[in-house]
Amino acid sequence: MSIQFPRIEPWPGISQEEWTNWKWQSKSALVSRSDFEKHFELSASESQAFESGAELFRVRSTPYYASLAMGRPQDDPIRKILLPSSDELSPGLQQMLDPLGERQNNPAPRIIHRYDDRCLFLVTDFCSMYCRYCTRKHFTAQDQVFPAKDEYQQALDYIRSTPKIAEVILSGGDPLTLSDQKLEKICYDLRQIPHVEIIRVGTRVPVVNPFRVTNELAKMFRSHKPVYIMTHFNHPRELTESAAEAVERFVDYGNPVFNQMVLLNGVNNHAAVVRALSRRLLYLRVKPYYMHQCDPSEGTDHLRTSIDQSLEIQKQLWGSLSGLAMPNLSVDIPEGGGKAGLTPNFIIEHKGGRRRFCGWDGIEADYLDPHESNLEVPSDLTDWL
Ligand code: SF4
Repeated sequence: MSIQFPRIEPWPGISQEEWTNWKWQSKSALVSRSDFEKHFELSASESQAFESGAELFRVRSTPYYASLAMGRPQDDPIRKILLPSSDELSPGLQQMLDPLGERQNNPAPRIIHRYDDRCLFLVTDFCSMYCRYCTRKHFTAQDQVFPAKDEYQQALDYIRSTPKIAEVILSGGDPLTLSDQKLEKICYDLRQIPHVEIIRVGTRVPVVNPFRVTNELAKMFRSHKPVYIMTHFNHPRELTESAAEAVERFVDYGNPVFNQMVLLNGVNNHAAVVRALSRRLLYLRVKPYYMHQCDPSEGTDHLRTSIDQSLEIQKQLWGSLSGLAMPNLSVDIPEGGGKAGLTPNFIIEHKGGRRRFCGWDGIEADYLDPHESNLEVPSDLTDWL
C-alpha cells in the first residue's frame, strides 16, 4: 500500500503558478502581527508575545507553511512551532543565548569548528521561517543574507589552511534561502580545496518552502557530489505532497537525504508521532538520523521535554520501528560540550561478564561475555587508520 501525502491548495486569489514559485512564497512571507491576524485568530498568549516587540525572537513564515496551521486550534503542533507565545517571555531554568557555546569555537568569521574533521560554515543568517525553539537565536534573523566579501574569504581561507577538515556543513540561517548562483559559488569554492571530501547542507526549506527544490538546484548539488542534504521535519503533517516531491527530487538526482528532528513538548513528544514521521520519511528514501533533545535556548522551556521522557519515547520506538527508520536520540551538552548519545538502559543487572537484560516488551535474559576478546588491530588494517 502506498502512503498518501496531503495536498495544500493555494490561498483564494493566488494562482497555482504564484503559489508554487519559491520566490513568491519568500516575498509574501507573514512577518507582523497584522499579517498573522489576517489568517489566524490569535490567542491571548500569542497576542501578548507579539506585543512584547523587541524582546521576542523574530516571527516569520511562508504562506505555504502558515497554511499547515490555519484553522487549527491553539494547541496545534505546527502552530506551536510557528507562532510565538507569552511563554517565550518567562525566565526559564537555563535560558542560554548560545546554548552550544558556538562563540567559543569560532576561529574565523562564519566558521564554527568544534570537531577536528568537520566545521560549520554559516553562509546566511536568514530563514524562510523562524522556529520558536531555534538554537541559534544569537545568530539568525539579523538580515545578513550573505557574508560580506572579506568574511567569506576569511572563512574559506580558514578551511583551506586546516587540512583536518574533511567535511563542511553549510548552515546558518538556512542556506537554501540563497540563490542558485550563490550556492553554486560556495560549492565550487569548497571543491577547490582538496581535503574537503563531503559537503553537507542543513536546511528546513523543504519543510517551509518546498518549491525552492527545483530540478536545477538538485542537479547543481549533484555536480559537486557528494553533497548530503540534512532536512528538518518535526511532525508527519509537515510531509505534504509538495514536501515529499522536494525531498524525492534531491534523492532522484543522487543527493542523499537525512532528517534531524527535535523532540518538542506538545508537538511530537509521543512515540506514535515519531513513528509516523519516521516511516513516511523512510518511504521517501530519507533516513531518519537524529532525534535531538531541544537545546535550552532563550524562551524554549515550554517546548522542551525531559530527558527521561525522551528516553521513554526512544525505548517505545525500539520495539515498533525498523532500524532503518530509527532516529538516534542525542543531546548537545551545553557550553560547547558536543553531542552525547542517549540510549535507554536495557541492562537491569551487571556482574563481571554477565549482564541481565530486560527488552522493550519485558522479556528478561542474560548475555555472557566470552572469556577473552582480542583488542589488537590486525596488522593489515593499520594502513587504513
Ligand atoms: S530553520 Fe533552523 S536556524 Fe532557522 S529558525 Fe528554524 S531552527 Fe533556527
